[in-house]
Amino acid sequence: MSLIVQKYGGTSVGSAERIRNVARRILDSHEAGDQIVAVVSAMSGVTNRLIELSEEVTGKTQNATEREMDVLLSTGEQTTIALISMAINSMGGKAVSLTGAQAGIQTDGVHTKARISNITPDEVHRLLNDGNIVILAGFQGRSPEGYITTLGRGGSDLTAIAMAAAVDAELCQIYTDVKGVYTCDPRVVKTAQKIEEISYDEMLEMASSGSKVMQSRSVEFAKKFGVRFEVRSSLNQQPGTLVLEETMSMESVVIRGISLERDQAKITIEGVRDQPGTAAKVFTSIAGANIIVDMIVQNVSKTGTTDISFTVGQADLANAEKTLNAVLPDIGEDVSLVSQEGIAKLSVVGIGMRSHSGVASQMFDTLSKAGINIQMISTSEIKITVTVGNDEIDDAARAVHSAFGLDDESAD
Ligand code: ASP
Ligand code: MG
Repeated sequence: MSLIVQKYGGTSVGSAERIRNVARRILDSHEAGDQIVAVVSAMSGVTNRLIELSEEVTGKTQNATEREMDVLLSTGEQTTIALISMAINSMGGKAVSLTGAQAGIQTDGVHTKARISNITPDEVHRLLNDGNIVILAGFQGRSPEGYITTLGRGGSDLTAIAMAAAVDAELCQIYTDVKGVYTCDPRVVKTAQKIEEISYDEMLEMASSGSKVMQSRSVEFAKKFGVRFEVRSSLNQQPGTLVLEETMSMESVVIRGISLERDQAKITIEGVRDQPGTAAKVFTSIAGANIIVDMIVQNVSKTGTTDISFTVGQADLANAEKTLNAVLPDIGEDVSLVSQEGIAKLSVVGIGMRSHSGVASQMFDTLSKAGINIQMISTSEIKITVTVGNDEIDDAARAVHSAFGLDDESAD
C-alpha cells in the first residue's frame, strides 16, 4: 500500500459531472489499494468570480483588505472539497474533507500570498489510518494568529507538493487538462510530443520562459524537498510527464523542450555613461515600478558611453518608458531611449547542453536557414534564448524543434 497525493485543478472539477468523474477516479485509486490524499482547486471560474464580487461591493475605489480576500477566496476550494467528498460517499466510498487549517498547514501571516512555514499532518494520518480518503482544500492555510491565509494564484499545486513532502508520499500526481509537459506548444508545433521525464531545473526553465503548466513556486518547492511528481490528464488513464531529480541518462538528450513567449518588447538606452552605478540606476528605477525585466545586454564602450538593451513584457512597456525617462538625465549627457514592440522569445532548454557542444551554433544556423533574424541572445547553463519577431516565432519554433530531433515521427 502506498500513499499518493493527487491534485485536481479547477477545470477538472469544473461542473457537477466533472466532480463525479474526479470522485470516481479517486475512489478507483483507493480501491486499487493505495491511501489517497486528494487536493482540489476551486471549480474553474469561481476564484475569478469571487474577485469580481469583491470589486463590486467595494466599488473598486477602496480595495478589500487582504485578510478578507483570503476569507472570501478560500471558500472556492471549500465548496469543492465538500462536493467531492459527498460524491465519493454517495458512490459507497469513505471520504472526509479538510480545510488547509484542519490539515495542519501553517503559513506566515502575509495574506493573499502566504508562504507555508510548517505542516503538522497528524489529522491527515489519523483519517487515512482509519481507512478514509482525505479530500484537502488547496491554496490555503492558517496564519500564526489562526486566520485563514491563501498561497497566491495557482497555489493548489503548492498545497499538493508540500503535503506530499510532509506525509512522505510515494508520488504526487498533478491532474490537469493537458496530457503532460510537451516538447513545445502543440498548438504551434503539431509534431510536439509529450516528455516522459524532465528534471526540476528543466521544468523551472521551461516555466520561466513561457510553458506554464505549473506554478513555478511549486516546482521550486518540489526540487528543494525532492518530491517527484507527475503532470497528467484527468480525462484519460495515460501516464503523463514525470518531474524529478536529474539522472545520468537525462544528459544524453541535448534539448528537452522549446518554450515560447510572445508579446515582449525591447528597450535600448543609447549613450549611457560607462561608469559604476549607471546600470544600477536604470534597473533600480525599473524594479521600483514593479516591472520584470529579462535578457539584459550591455555593449562594450568605445567612447566612454555604451548601450544597454533589455526586454520587458509588452504590457509593461509604456510604464517602463515613463519610469526611464525620469532617470535619463542622471545617466549620461546625450542619452536616448529606443523601444520596439512585437517581439517574441524562443528558448531551447536541456541539461544535456552542459555536456554537448555546438548547441548554440546549430540553433543559430537553423534560424538563419529559415531566414529568421535573431535580435538578442542570452544563455544560462541549460538554456539558450533568442528574440525574434512575433510574426516569425511559429516558423522559428517548428524549424528548431525539427533540427533538434524533437519531432514525433508518427504525427503529421
Ligand atoms: N483557486 C485558486 C486560483 O484559481 C488556486 C488554484 O486553482 O490553484 O488561483
Ligand atoms: Mg488553477
